[in-house]
Amino acid sequence: MPGFESITDQIRPALILNTFIRKGAIPHALLFTGMEGVGKQAAARAFAMACNCLGNCPDESPVNSKGLVSSGKPENYGPCGVCSSCRKILSNSHPDVIEIEPSGPYIRISQVRDLCELLAFKPYEARIRTVIISDAQTMNTAAGNALLKLLEEPPERTILILTATEKSDLIPTIASRCQQIRFNPVSRKRLAEMLIESKGIEPVDAGIFAAMANGSFNRAVALSDKSRLKKRDWLINEIESLSLKETGKCMAFAERLSKDKEDFLDSIETLKIWYRDIAVFKYYPGKSIFFDLSDKTKTALFRHTEKDLLSKFDEIRIARKNILANANLRLTAETLVLRLVQSNSPGG
Ligand SMILES: [Zn+2]
Repeated sequence: MPGFESITDQIRPALILNTFIRKGAIPHALLFTGMEGVGKQAAARAFAMACNCLGNCPDESPVNSKGLVSSGKPENYGPCGVCSSCRKILSNSHPDVIEIEPSGPYIRISQVRDLCELLAFKPYEARIRTVIISDAQTMNTAAGNALLKLLEEPPERTILILTATEKSDLIPTIASRCQQIRFNPVSRKRLAEMLIESKGIEPVDAGIFAAMANGSFNRAVALSDKSRLKKRDWLINEIESLSLKETGKCMAFAERLSKDKEDFLDSIETLKIWYRDIAVFKYYPGKSIFFDLSDKTKTALFRHTEKDLLSKFDEIRIARKNILANANLRLTAETLVLRLVQSNSPGG
């Protein structure tokens, strides 16, 4: 997977990283921000590869002050992915690419101390040694202070790349010493392509999972399971066909919904998307998340007024809050189902 662009569709970060290498001006510290699952770590690794790619250094001369040469490729300074240096980084066996992530909930001071000891030595073989600190916001104050010393006196031929969701999550003295690069949520189209390419998922299903994932590749992968679509269809068919007259059926449905907390949360998220699709279909039919169900959505549109839909969103929000507060699952499910069914028009 050579090249910066191929990781996600993060065009702007890719351009910035490319420019650093083209100019041979590698900063001491970068901060990659963006939601989870948008490719920050993959980009950090790609940048480590690009900084050390033998393809970016076709001959041993003329080396500039940063140890980089301008290669024969005027535009793309992304990694080749096949040279010995790139391959070492891809297989996690490069001695000068060091990755630190939280051990349990935090990055501990011992991890930062070990890092400082390691960085006191020169890089073994890298042109630019790369330290990737993931979820840097989990550093406690002691670890943060230890890292601050490194940022104040950066080791030679070394770049620190921190990742975090938001710049404001970090200790300000650390954040201010890093050049920030923002990563956007990944587009639906690109997420779908990635699911098809990397997981072999069928295009229609990939489109649905991509739409549900809200811009996060990790979430798209977690969602992408065929059985999830079967369950979705079952949920929607049930909720649309139930009526208050059939209390027994409503209770049986509630019982199935409430067997497991995570599963219950997942189900109400699916119902929320379903009602959301009905609400937007009238104005933006092309914006459906469950676009494969558009015939069903169109029919449902005539059975739910906007007022009904708003009250359903409220009921779902209340149920979610109760589940997270460890309320009785069965009771929560029964209340939710009865209230959702209450506003179903007869004859559905
Ligand atoms: Zn290479």
